[in-house]
Amino acid sequence: MAGLEDLRRAIGEIPLVDHHVHGVLVRDLSRREFEEALTESDRPVPAWATQFDSQLGFAVLRHCAPVLGLDPHPEPDAYLARRAELGAEEAGRRLLAAAGVGRFLVETGHRAGELLGPSGMSALTGRPADEIVRLEAVAERVAAEGVGAAAFAAAFEAALWERSRTARGLKTVAAYRCGLDFDPAPPSPGEVTAAAGRWLRRVERTGGTRLDDPVLVRHLVWTGVGRGLPLQFHTGYGDPDLDLRRADPLLLRGFAELAEPRGIPLLLLHCYPFHRGAGFLAQAYPHVFFDVGLGVHHTGARAAAVVAESLELAPFAKILFSSDACGPAELHHLGALLWRRAMTRVLGGFVAEGEWSAEQAVRVATMIGAENARRVYGLGDGDSDGFGDGPGGGSGGSGDGPGGDSGGSGDGPGGDSGGSGDGPDGERPDRGRGPETGPRGSGVTRETARAASSVSRGEAEQLLADLTDLSPVYLGEEACTAPTPIGPREARREAG
Ligand SMILES: [Zn+2]
Repeated sequence: MAGLEDLRRAIGEIPLVDHHVHGVLVRDLSRREFEEALTESDRPVPAWATQFDSQLGFAVLRHCAPVLGLDPHPEPDAYLARRAELGAEEAGRRLLAAAGVGRFLVETGHRAGELLGPSGMSALTGRPADEIVRLEAVAERVAAEGVGAAAFAAAFEAALWERSRTARGLKTVAAYRCGLDFDPAPPSPGEVTAAAGRWLRRVERTGGTRLDDPVLVRHLVWTGVGRGLPLQFHTGYGDPDLDLRRADPLLLRGFAELAEPRGIPLLLLHCYPFHRGAGFLAQAYPHVFFDVGLGVHHTGARAAAVVAESLELAPFAKILFSSDACGPAELHHLGALLWRRAMTRVLGGFVAEGEWSAEQAVRVATMIGAENARRVYGLGDGDSDGFGDGPGGGSGGSGDGPGGDSGGSGDGPGGDSGGSGDGPDGERPDRGRGPETGPRGSGVTRETARAASSVSRGEAEQLLADLTDLSPVYLGEEACTAPTPIGPREARREAG
């Protein structure tokens, strides 16, 4: 057996933890709707163009078509006809099953009524799914339900504690709302009340609840820190609602330093094309982690270059896998599949060159693919996420997940609100669920390391021969070239 094949199999069998993902859209899509889901632009696809002519479009035709029973590289209409024949739900089930994700952390603050929530994702995949709560969505709901400026801070805190009782983490879209170059210090109570007054008057006047006041955004973020759960930041690539220049994760340095004593993990999402800066922050600060989700499936055949660049400065315990898929299940499938292929190519290259052992390659892939997220979010050892127990196995999400579909976003007033009594400054007991498994401790590592143990240094020559048969993007300088500038972006504003 060729060495690369063993490494590919070992990486292919990792039950990934997708630590930042949105729900699947389970309804049939027209060609126009499907194409709009293949771009971050919110503009219509021009009549003279097709979004299938893109790295992501080609990746759909190459990698999703076989999952639906077609040969690779069909014409777009043939692909969509087959998709429609199966129906969106069955196509989604097949694509997700083939993705091999062991657990989902589903962010529910975006298109909540339209996309599957954690329990829906769990039902579709038979895998556990937990919730990540978006701070801005909680605050906007508080405003929509009616609150005075002076009572806003306390009402938001109570709502956040209640809303996140069973959540695994929080998320902020500060990058979209005011840019990451916000004043990093927490605002004073007087500033918060004054800013809440301005915002709430605008809500009353316009009916729109969008929260974009920098003082309030800072207040939300610091209240989130007080909640004591891992805190995700949208950074980098996104839709045109974002000023990408103000989404560079390096802008968070001041905040990261002020928050460091609180001990809350900060997770920099996406990061592209700033993932090298994120790697620096992850190296410099013990509580900073990052991923290259979204960038992986949008760069398609170039994903290995992005993944290679993410593996430069940061210690491997600081890098996580995510798809940031949102909508069509093709994106969930490709987020996982292209990551596995990229990791196989990049790490396989290191092994072939004699820089890494095969055992090191498998161990690092398992850390990034699953174990780092398990440690950061306190998910346990992953025994329930394996694939030996078939669909419906594992905890199914319902036991430890947020319960209902996120769609409800906090509309369950029946729940006990006792959580809010802990106050923003207390260390939340939830954190006790936290770090338990060291990167080397879990069965996942032992298992996958065993699977690849036959990839020995002695096989490096064969591995190198295998690798030269593949596209050279993962080898040599090409993997280190600067990312290309990104073009027009995205439809579903603030997918985050
Ligand atoms: Zn997202």
